[in-house]
Amino acid sequence: MTDNTSIEGIIAEVIRRNPGEAEFHQAVREVAETLGPVLRKHPQYAKHKIIERICEPERQIIFRVPWQDDRGEVQINRGFRVGFNSALGPYKGGLRFHPSVYLGIVKFLGFEQVFKNAVTGMPIGGAKGGADFDPKGKSDNEVMRFCQSFMTELYRHLGEYTDVPAGDIGVGAREIGFLFGQYKRITNRYESAVLTGKSPDWGGSLVRREATGYGLVYFVEEMLKARGQTVAGKTCIVSGSGNVAIYAVEKLQALGAKVVACSDSNAVIHDPNGIRLDTLKQIKEVERRRISHYAQEHPDAQCLGANQLWNIPCEVALPCATQNELNEQAARTLIANGCIAVGEGANMPTTPGGVKAFMEAGLAYGPGKAANAGGVATSALEMQQNASRDAWSFEYTEKRLHGIMQNIHNDCHETAAEFGAPGNYVMGANIAGFRRVAEAMLAFGV
Ligand code: GLU
Repeated sequence: MTDNTSIEGIIAEVIRRNPGEAEFHQAVREVAETLGPVLRKHPQYAKHKIIERICEPERQIIFRVPWQDDRGEVQINRGFRVGFNSALGPYKGGLRFHPSVYLGIVKFLGFEQVFKNAVTGMPIGGAKGGADFDPKGKSDNEVMRFCQSFMTELYRHLGEYTDVPAGDIGVGAREIGFLFGQYKRITNRYESAVLTGKSPDWGGSLVRREATGYGLVYFVEEMLKARGQTVAGKTCIVSGSGNVAIYAVEKLQALGAKVVACSDSNAVIHDPNGIRLDTLKQIKEVERRRISHYAQEHPDAQCLGANQLWNIPCEVALPCATQNELNEQAARTLIANGCIAVGEGANMPTTPGGVKAFMEAGLAYGPGKAANAGGVATSALEMQQNASRDAWSFEYTEKRLHGIMQNIHNDCHETAAEFGAPGNYVMGANIAGFRRVAEAMLAFGV
């Protein structure tokens, strides 16, 4: 029952039951392959089919999102919400608005979220949602009408004790505002904790915006500390230039590292003097423009093709853009150029071949489930503030985040050692998260 053949059988069944969902298959395989030792130690997990049950989402909602563009034309998108697992708390996880969104992407993200949220130690289950809507090039009014239509269907499935969405790619403070406004209008309730990532002006938490990026850097700092090193003085590259990347850059610089590159889906900026954070924020947060404009502001910086990022030599690499952005060849280039640590700010940014290369080379490799969990952990802190009708200071909230990231690191580190794989954060995060969910599911019965 508990050998590798049975795990291969479970994976094969997931593939059979969920045809055409490659990202979901990849996410399941990556977790399931590390669970052999925990099944041997706790035979009741296999007996009660815990893995099989975790791989089947508790609920999946697909809905039509009709809206009118600025020319008055009717547009139709598809909305999703997958409540993956609620053993540890209400469903919790972001919404992604991107043209690539389909059920397989939402399921991979929801599956990852179950383990990530469990690893934080906070009382939150795992979920994900979104739509195949492209916010790029849309006016504020179009985004508002889309969000209102999206929430007009989704609201009935949400609630602070039921399901609490937040942002992800394409969903930031602006979208959360429109979504919350519509929820409040329809339900006649100021139910703050139904969404997180709200503006601190009306129920949001300070540090939530910075949390994923800051938390990622704290996690990398802990991995380096475990090897007698620090972030200070290291040359770093960060992919992406969204919310996660910007605040990872900010914290890296605050800790004395030098960040020489970041990117978007069109281009890479290589600034050997160190990325100027104020310019980055101005371009991406205020003007909502492409990263290539950076090179116009700072002629010392080079603008390279989008696939050039991982060729830039660095000691620390933080993929913060999207899934499968870092393949085996890129991983081998990073290793050959002297990279010693990789922390995933995005969800599943490294392909299986890339992960294998990092592990074989013995790099400090922090998988997204652990390394980027600071975002959702701070969402849980936001829910906590909403529940107690309180608002914490920036300093206090950041201290909580820092402590949570240190705990996640230590938990993963110790769990990996307990199961005979010291330094293997993939195994540590998967087993630590799985055990928490599994114990709750056992307690609740079938
Ligand atoms: N989308 C983020 C993630 O991937 C945050 C989710 C949340 O705060 O609920 O973890």
